[in-house]
Amino acid sequence: GPGDIHAELVVLGSGPGGYSAAFRAADLGQSVVLIEKDDNLGGVCLNVGCIPSKAMLHMAKVITEAEETAHHGLKFGAPEIDLDGLRDFKNGVVNKLTGGLDGLAKQRKVKVVKGYGKFTGPNMIDVEGTTVSFDNCIIAAGSEPVTLPFIPHDDPRVIDSTGALELADIPERLLVLGGGIIGLEMACVYDALGSKVTVVELMDQIIPGADKDVVKPLMQRIKGRYANIFLKTKVTAVEAKDDGMHVTFEDDKGESFTDTFDKVLVAVGRRPNGKKIDADKAGVSVDDRGFIGVDSQQRTGVKHIFAIGDVVGQPMLAHKAVHEGKVAAEAASGENRHFDAKVIPSVAYTDPEVAWVGVTETQAKADGIKFEKGVFPWAASGRSLSLGRSEGMTKLLFDPEDQRVIGGCIVGPSAGDLIAEVALAIEMGADAVDLGHTIHPHPTLSETVNFAAEMFEGTITDLM
Ligand code: FAD
Repeated sequence: GPGDIHAELVVLGSGPGGYSAAFRAADLGQSVVLIEKDDNLGGVCLNVGCIPSKAMLHMAKVITEAEETAHHGLKFGAPEIDLDGLRDFKNGVVNKLTGGLDGLAKQRKVKVVKGYGKFTGPNMIDVEGTTVSFDNCIIAAGSEPVTLPFIPHDDPRVIDSTGALELADIPERLLVLGGGIIGLEMACVYDALGSKVTVVELMDQIIPGADKDVVKPLMQRIKGRYANIFLKTKVTAVEAKDDGMHVTFEDDKGESFTDTFDKVLVAVGRRPNGKKIDADKAGVSVDDRGFIGVDSQQRTGVKHIFAIGDVVGQPMLAHKAVHEGKVAAEAASGENRHFDAKVIPSVAYTDPEVAWVGVTETQAKADGIKFEKGVFPWAASGRSLSLGRSEGMTKLLFDPEDQRVIGGCIVGPSAGDLIAEVALAIEMGADAVDLGHTIHPHPTLSETVNFAAEMFEGTITDLM
């Protein structure tokens, strides 16, 4: 038709994976079309994920720090919470970034086509009546929250992470269903804002991907603040009644009990959007769960169609999507690029933060991977103590053969920033001496990485 478009590369979805891929390919000289169904570019991460959640977590941190300085001789009054103001701050941050993406797309002459895209053939996507044809395509359709059959999701008192980020109100009693990263971050926000928070988790620990000892300081802190944390417990029914949501729990001994909440936040995982794009019409296979399989260049079974980000598998993280996006864009532009990152860090931006990268101790034990460790307790870090905090810990795992770093877990304020050094150490093949002999600025939390390496080597002289 007259409005039809052709591009060398079409990117389906403008999340962190999609926009990174589109921009990289444009920089390499490709003509690029970026298809997005939502009003704003940026996907889940910018609009309803990483960024708004961090803006709210910052507010939460200010509130709890102000509470806690009372123990150190500095007392503030109770916070006056203006939800409209908080929402404006959060939306302002999001809009600045999504608006920035519009500008970056224009600068690079990436053509943005708004609308829902579906494949109609191996070289064609229909976007609500406009046909976009391509030589190469990158699928970056992302994921959405999982819903549960026994939960009345149509009741406004049942929310997902997107609903929680809307900050519609501060529920008096909030149930967070799922003790993973997203659930616990939102629990942290609403606890600080004054909700009585209950967390329920099926597994025997919160943040099941991280080592138990690393999660312990977080567990201890939230135990003291939240109404309840139920582990090894599942929710079997949620009933909407006038006085609240009546929730039935069942523990691992088969005992049932009920409780009532004003809101239920369902955060039990995310499901890929692979089944919603008619991928079969392009010959691309999608598995039962909705994931699209790819090779080390991010190519699907159809060589000129690539896939990246949440839609290709775990871990569903923005930095993984961005990295894969660049790999796919370079491969699609004819470069010999492969995904060869050794590790992908994970972070829960709770208070304290929990971060890990590479092999965890739990995983090493399960898989029979030989390791030795260096552990530095932050109770001996001068910087941590001067923040009024002592519960943190930095743990490094080393290969006993060559003393190279193979993994690290950090818990404490700013752990998410600190884990980047461990990721770099693993990528560079650094060993304990490299970390121990690198002069770290004093007094910083970054020293704890240096100290953990010295603990392993037995060369630590003073703990400060
Ligand atoms: P997405 O960001 O999901 O983007 C996909 C885009 O494609 C969307 O804009 C969608 O509208 C569009 N799309 C899909 N199908 C179509 C179609 N058929 N036609 C047109 N457009 C389509 N990760 C981190 O690394 N750090 C964090 O701190 C973090 N915090 C998070 C907090 C929350 C509350 C949530 C929900 C997630 C968080 N994540 C975080 C995960 C992160 O948001 C995702 O891993 C990341 O957004 C995945 O990027 P993506 O490009 O694969 O897909």
